[in-house]
Amino acid sequence: MSELELYIHIPFCAKKCSYCDFLSFPAGQEAQEAYVAQLIREINASAIMGRDREVSSVFIGGGTPSILDPRMIVDIMSAVRHSFCVSKDAEITIECNPGSTLRHKFAVYRSAGINRLSIGLQSADNAELRMLGRIHSYEEFLKCYQGARMEGFENINVDLIDCIPMQTMHTWKKTLRSVVMLRPEHLSVYNLIVEEGTPFYEMQQKGLLMLPDEEEQAAMDEFTRSFLRRNGYERYEISNFAREGAACRHNVGYWTGVNYLGFGLGASSLYDGTRWSNIRDISGYLAIDLLHDQQAEEKLRAEVHELDEKEQMEEYMFLGLRMTRGVSETGFKERFGRTVDNVFGEALSRHLEDGLLLREGSVIRFSERGMDLSNTVLSDLLLD
Ligand code: SF4
Repeated sequence: MSELELYIHIPFCAKKCSYCDFLSFPAGQEAQEAYVAQLIREINASAIMGRDREVSSVFIGGGTPSILDPRMIVDIMSAVRHSFCVSKDAEITIECNPGSTLRHKFAVYRSAGINRLSIGLQSADNAELRMLGRIHSYEEFLKCYQGARMEGFENINVDLIDCIPMQTMHTWKKTLRSVVMLRPEHLSVYNLIVEEGTPFYEMQQKGLLMLPDEEEQAAMDEFTRSFLRRNGYERYEISNFAREGAACRHNVGYWTGVNYLGFGLGASSLYDGTRWSNIRDISGYLAIDLLHDQQAEEKLRAEVHELDEKEQMEEYMFLGLRMTRGVSETGFKERFGRTVDNVFGEALSRHLEDGLLLREGSVIRFSERGMDLSNTVLSDLLLD
């Protein structure tokens, strides 16, 4: 049976963080219940797409999934198991906000078969957390993390952000040290990006956002890499670090082209060469009659796009290069019948020469410097 991954989007948050442009918003209990009921109908209506496929990972993300009454998570997971064949050793992750995750929720998550947590800490400095508009303190995170361990979670990711306004090398080192002391299995470390439409963007426009300069950013990135390496975390993707055997299977699936189905508002899917995203408007989503309307699928999917061969080749290369293990030239040739040199030509040889890309045996991968400049290299590799 071929492999399939599932993503389930919970778009609710207690309040919007100052840097966030994800599809998320506050909502009351009634709206949450209506959404989960529709989500379950969507999962059930998609069962046919799981025929002859085994689900290797489920990722419940958001927004803030942990804001929901945990019984709703149990209902969602029951619908998943009822409609899809979920592998016995599937990785099942839920994202948690330390401000909304009480210990009793962890026990319920375990009973629903969830075996991995992704906790959004972002910083161990309370002033930085306030600056980001997060609803929790570092102490609440600690309580949440320890509660998860006590309930038996053995696979935990912690999300961190660097280059926060007013952040210094000193506070960033303190954040990394405090978190690594806890020995989570996985760390995701993202640079803060100021996205249009966020309060941070407004502040930046007015010249009120004091971000670390380029030199400080580079020094923080360098410290992150070396400190995590020394502490047993391998950088296996641009922003992801894991202890041995703890790379996130769900994300590795995305980057290696495994088919995935996304459920819920705005969720995207890739299935047999076709990519689509669900609509992003909650009233429109709730209004679709998923059980009886013959046009339900068309109403649900906002953008449907069949990838042509050129796009598939780009995607194979771009997603593969995100990972430190790189792209297999043999795999590329087997899949597309052409060599990478033939397809990516001059841009590829230029970056092999300038050392941003490395060729080792039949693998092409980023050098450490290349990883830091990945956006430039990838845009050069775009096919006409
Ligand atoms: S908790 Fe996450 S999804 Fe929600 S507003 Fe903050 S950054 Fe956005």
